[in-house]
Amino acid sequence: MTDLASPLARSSLTADRRARELAELAGGTVVDLLVVGGGVTGAGVALDAASRGLSVALVEARDLAFGTSRWSSKLVHGGLRYLASGDVRLARESAAEREILIRRTAGHLVHPLPMVLPLTRDVPVGAALLARVGLGFADLLRRGVRTPSSVLPPPRRLSVVETLGMVPGLREEGLRGGLLYWDGQLVDDARLVVAIARTAAAFGARILTRVQVLAVQDSAVQNLVPGGANGTGPTAAMRAGAGPGPVEVEALDTLTGQPCRLRARTVINATGVWAPVLAPEIRLRPSRGTHLVLPAAAFGGTPTALSVPIPGERNRYALVLPQGDGRVYVGLTDVSTDEVVDLPVPDHGEITHLLNVVSGVLATPLDRADVLGSFAGLRPLLDGPGGRTADLSRRHTVHTGANRVITVVGGKLTTYRRMAEDAVDAAVAQANLDAGPCRTSRLPLVGAAPRRALASIPAPRRLVARYGTEAPAVLDLARDDPRLLAPVAAGVDVTGAELVFGVLHEGALDVDDLLDRRTRVGLVPADRAAALDAARSALTHHAVRTG
Ligand SMILES: Cc1cc2nc3c(=O)[nH]c(=O)nc-3n(C[C@H](O)[C@H](O)[C@H](O)COP(=O)(O)OP(=O)(O)OC[C@H]3O[C@@H](n4cnc5c(N)ncnc54)[C@H](O)[C@@H]3O)c2cc1C
Repeated sequence: MTDLASPLARSSLTADRRARELAELAGGTVVDLLVVGGGVTGAGVALDAASRGLSVALVEARDLAFGTSRWSSKLVHGGLRYLASGDVRLARESAAEREILIRRTAGHLVHPLPMVLPLTRDVPVGAALLARVGLGFADLLRRGVRTPSSVLPPPRRLSVVETLGMVPGLREEGLRGGLLYWDGQLVDDARLVVAIARTAAAFGARILTRVQVLAVQDSAVQNLVPGGANGTGPTAAMRAGAGPGPVEVEALDTLTGQPCRLRARTVINATGVWAPVLAPEIRLRPSRGTHLVLPAAAFGGTPTALSVPIPGERNRYALVLPQGDGRVYVGLTDVSTDEVVDLPVPDHGEITHLLNVVSGVLATPLDRADVLGSFAGLRPLLDGPGGRTADLSRRHTVHTGANRVITVVGGKLTTYRRMAEDAVDAAVAQANLDAGPCRTSRLPLVGAAPRRALASIPAPRRLVARYGTEAPAVLDLARDDPRLLAPVAAGVDVTGAELVFGVLHEGALDVDDLLDRRTRVGLVPADRAAALDAARSALTHHAVRTG
């Protein structure tokens, strides 16, 4: 029997919970805050608000992490890149948020990643010097936000022998050594989003996927417009000082096709590149970023990342990012695009460009046949001065529209917590909500624990890195059926137990949720095809348990 008082049960997202909570909302329950969008920003807003004591509902048109949040490079940046563009404030904010994620709130999902910048003929001595100065500044920020060097060691110059020792696949000819530095790496960006959303659910937030917002109507605005929709002027409640009435939201339950009307004291639009649909006054300049998936063997199986200067560009690098599962991601491009599509597709030119840049530093150049898969995401960049999208600022903004909808957009995955805090502050002030102070900088996400405690969890390290303290609960699902501990396909690490956990606790409603977001099997199409039966079987398993 499930113990409803246990932390796992309180944070569990299931099809039953979704149906019950959506019925409550559609039945007229008014929440303090309705969050639109279930990416990292929306999930962060839901957690921030629910942990301040507000009643919260989050509605997501598709699935948690359906949008940009699952297509990132999975880096928790210390802000090196912003230093290069002179934005010290943003760099410091990034370093501070990295410290929070890596040491306080999500130590199971974020780990230190060694990165090497190889000093090849394409890196003149002057450019190498500048890079060292930048790394030195980034390290000062690390110290400023008190991330110890035992977690992220300071940068240092490597000899040729040391460089080749760390990245055996590099070409020796013309190599003068390397620069070694450290940053944060997420085991999986989509798992971060799910962990944030489940932590919010444990505070009572209703997390409702497959609910698309179609329109927002502000009853207070309508009432206030002289001769407006009903021409009645301020409502009696407002004249009596009770504040504006609720915002009405038209939505669609895409599982049943049923329209519904949701009501909230305030609404936050966290829909990333789709933000202008609900807030037309917001101007974005989306840009597509592409990654390739390759076998780790193509880089000598090293756990060290590579930062490869792009020939002819200043301060732009291609990244080679080992994932610890026998795969490496190579990224990333920055291509301006007006097309905001659900599933952006990398183009041929981007793939060739990435292969060429990285091959330039390898002993054995990469071949198109090495590419196991590819993925692309759209950056929700705020329009601003700067010709290329690569030069646009990565800051975020919080904006209140005429319909009282508060939009939070821009920023980075790394800074989601800060974005959420700013947006909830604005919502609390706007609707005069009775909320406590922001607590999220000290609030561990589900599964989080100090590093020493994580190290002693009796479960495989791979599971601990994804599920933290919940890893034993994943293993437990295989107690009666040890076959669930086997990988779901040849050459893939993911087990059947993880898929069942996705159904029972992480709100996965179909095969796509399981293979493309709760796990990332879907990043390699051949693996995805091989794992389909296991995913279908996990969903059936769930039906048996709840039926
Ligand atoms: C290629 C690439 C690499 C990146 N790498 C990094 C990195 O390494 N580190 C880092 O810190 N940042 C990185 N970023 C930036 C980061 O990924 C984004 O800033 C962040 O994920 C944006 O999250 P979001 O929640 O604002 O948007 P999204 O994740 O896009 O979420 C918006 C959600 O809103 C939903 N939605 C839209 N319309 C509606 C509606 N009408 N009703 C209900 N729901 C709706 C969508 O389905 C979607 O799930 C990268 C970005 C890209 C593109």
